[in-house]
Amino acid sequence: MNTRNLLDVIVVGGGAVGASAAAALAQSGFDVALVEPNPPTASAEDAPLDARVIALSPASVRFVERLGAWPLSAARAFAYREMEVRSGDEVLRFGRELVAEPALGWIVELRALQARVFDAARSRVAAVHAARVVDCERGEREARLELDDGTRLRARLVVSAEGGRSSLREAAGITADGRDYLSRGIVAHLTTEQPNPGIAFQRFLKGGPLAFLPIDGGRSSLVWTRPEAEVEPLLALDDAAFCDAVAEASGLRFGRVVAATSRVAFPLRLQLAERFHAERLVLLGDTAHVVHPLAGLGLNLGLIDAAALVDVLVDARTRERDLGSLATLSRFDSWRRSDTHAAARAIDAIERGFGGDLGRVGQWLSRGLGLVDALTPAKRFFAAAACGDIGRVPRMAQR
Ligand SMILES: Cc1cc2nc3c(=O)[nH]c(=O)nc-3n(C[C@H](O)[C@H](O)[C@H](O)COP(=O)(O)OP(=O)(O)OC[C@H]3O[C@@H](n4cnc5c(N)ncnc54)[C@H](O)[C@@H]3O)c2cc1C
Repeated sequence: MNTRNLLDVIVVGGGAVGASAAAALAQSGFDVALVEPNPPTASAEDAPLDARVIALSPASVRFVERLGAWPLSAARAFAYREMEVRSGDEVLRFGRELVAEPALGWIVELRALQARVFDAARSRVAAVHAARVVDCERGEREARLELDDGTRLRARLVVSAEGGRSSLREAAGITADGRDYLSRGIVAHLTTEQPNPGIAFQRFLKGGPLAFLPIDGGRSSLVWTRPEAEVEPLLALDDAAFCDAVAEASGLRFGRVVAATSRVAFPLRLQLAERFHAERLVLLGDTAHVVHPLAGLGLNLGLIDAAALVDVLVDARTRERDLGSLATLSRFDSWRRSDTHAAARAIDAIERGFGGDLGRVGQWLSRGLGLVDALTPAKRFFAAAACGDIGRVPRMAQR
């Protein structure tokens, strides 16, 4: 590619969000370059499942499928057909029959997904630069980027999908506020006495929720939120003591825990950018919003950002509008900022309520679970939300 050419879009950051945006925009006929210093690679076929797995909604799956990045290998993606949420003595359960989908969602190895969408991008975009952005100038007609390998690029629009710490967001003076949950999410893969038959199970406990997500061979992937002070002591336990602690916290949902892989803990925070755009710049994925993992939504929101950006830019092109103008990008901002801020606030309220901060509110929320369980229309709403089918769904994620 002649880098002196004016591109339509430069996507900075080739995680699952940036790479899917680059692939989808290129597939829609835009001239796109992708900048990612550490291109992801898939694990060897016989490698054990990576510790990082995430829940992917059917709407997100439809989007990556349209990019040719789905299905993943059967050893890296596992359907779940039922969700079960417990708090105290109350329980909410719903299954895929409420939403007429083959699954309520899939638990997927993040690394495998990243590698597949990156390959989809690589085969469609004009160029992939294995470099880091060091400078960005945004002008009235175009944006200019300088990479740490000396490459200079020009485009109508720059997309920042750099993750939670975005140099481009900071350089544009867009603040990102929120709060540190002062907790970490401990993840490990577990073998339980009774195999997990495909249930995404979550139990709210004082201090944070515990989730068992179904993976291979009846195992479950654990995401256990614990306050900072408890994390190191839990990580220091030997296997048997750790398994006992997890089994007790789960209320023995699948019986005793008989084995656990090595544990890793991730800091958790809420972080919302005050706006998702500036002239010639748009923010996607964790650059725009970082949320607590209790609803399994972070990456799903980011993938829907990417699909929504395609809708907005295709419409701008049809109307012969400037792709990077404030007028074009404010359409994206008002759509995605309102949806993601609403989701983030709801997740934050659930975290505070069930986590114990709000005392009596937590008890009401627990009772609410039981009430919702008794009402099929309410359950249908929650099932549709879990599938990513509420609000405005972008064209590439629609059924
Ligand atoms: C414990 C835990 C469990 C979770 N579970 C779920 C779940 O079940 N479901 C779900 O949807 N989400 C979940 N999430 C959230 C999800 O992991 C993130 O939202 C998602 O991975 C963010 O993807 P991203 O592409 O926006 O950012 P990232 O994956 O962080 O990618 C950013 C990319 O940008 C590149 N980059 C950074 N700076 C530059 C630069 N200057 N120049 C060029 N490139 C740059 C980086 O190299 C990186 O590849 C979970 C999170 C945690 C912590």
